[in-house]
Amino acid sequence: MVINMAANASEAELQHVIDRVKECGFQPHVTRGTERAIVAAVGSGGSRSALEALKAAPGVEDVVPIAHPFKLVARQTRGERSCVTVGDVCIGGPDAIVIAGPCSVESREQILSTARAVRAAGATMLRGGAYKPRTSPYDFQGLGVEALQLLREAREETGLPIVTEVMSTEDIPLISEYADMLQVGARNMQNFALLRQLSKIDKPILLKRGPSASVKEWLLAAEYLLAGGNANVVLCERGIKTFETEMRNTLDLAAVALVRELSHLPVIADPSHGTGRRELIQPASRAALAIGADGLIIEVHPCPERALSDGAQSLNLEEFAKMMRNLSAPIRSVATMAMAV
Ligand code: PEP
Ligand code: MN
Repeated sequence: MVINMAANASEAELQHVIDRVKECGFQPHVTRGTERAIVAAVGSGGSRSALEALKAAPGVEDVVPIAHPFKLVARQTRGERSCVTVGDVCIGGPDAIVIAGPCSVESREQILSTARAVRAAGATMLRGGAYKPRTSPYDFQGLGVEALQLLREAREETGLPIVTEVMSTEDIPLISEYADMLQVGARNMQNFALLRQLSKIDKPILLKRGPSASVKEWLLAAEYLLAGGNANVVLCERGIKTFETEMRNTLDLAAVALVRELSHLPVIADPSHGTGRRELIQPASRAALAIGADGLIIEVHPCPERALSDGAQSLNLEEFAKMMRNLSAPIRSVATMAMAV
């Protein structure tokens, strides 16, 4: 339930509502807007009907039931869309942002040359895996702390903020020392122990959608982060498992539009993992922006054919620069019937 206070509600009236929400068995989360305050009552053990009765309390304009099980991420909980700041970059603002870089950090030369090139092409953040979630234990697992040091060097030289994946709770303190944003990978979207720990840190989180997660499950995973105290969450659609076999995953672009309806959180798209095919990265990226994505995350490698992970879906440096140039080209015009007058 969300309790909307009236524009002229007093502090005492607001405090009374907060106290009643607690007495009813919920935790109150207060958001103060420029015109009014709203109180989100969070929790499942309390009495909903007791909350509904707060419609009669002084200073309350309305009590709105939230049909969805997620509350803090819900669009209704905040009047406006959220903007998540990573370094100097604002994700969820008027301009779409592009995060680019290799799937894995492989060497000093590889990450530095990629960082310089993607920056020159207009990317605003650098990605690169240090700890890799690989389907097979025999595949390259990432360079670990050495990769984190290289990412730091790349940030120092280019100024690009860094996002890198965290796979386990024990790595959080170390990765937080180096990264500007921590990625929760698709395979860990419902690792609730990890989400709980990440909700306690002050770094922004990039939360990828699980390959078989519904939109509701994805938003509930984000809810863990917000409920624990970390509101700096960016969602990332990276494709889901379907019966399709020609692409690595099915990039669910309608879900991008849907989460923008359901949630105030920024959402970006990952056409690299979403399609697995480098020739589809540009059209899928353009479509993602057209449908409302707040940004893109794209895998880029100086020599994709030699990449230690995800080479087949990585753009080389020139292809990425070309894609960036084409990203804002107008979409095609629509034919219209000549109207008889
Ligand atoms: C990645 O970003 O390289 C990655 C492993 O992504 P996902 O978790 O979406 O598979
Ligand atoms: Mn990858």
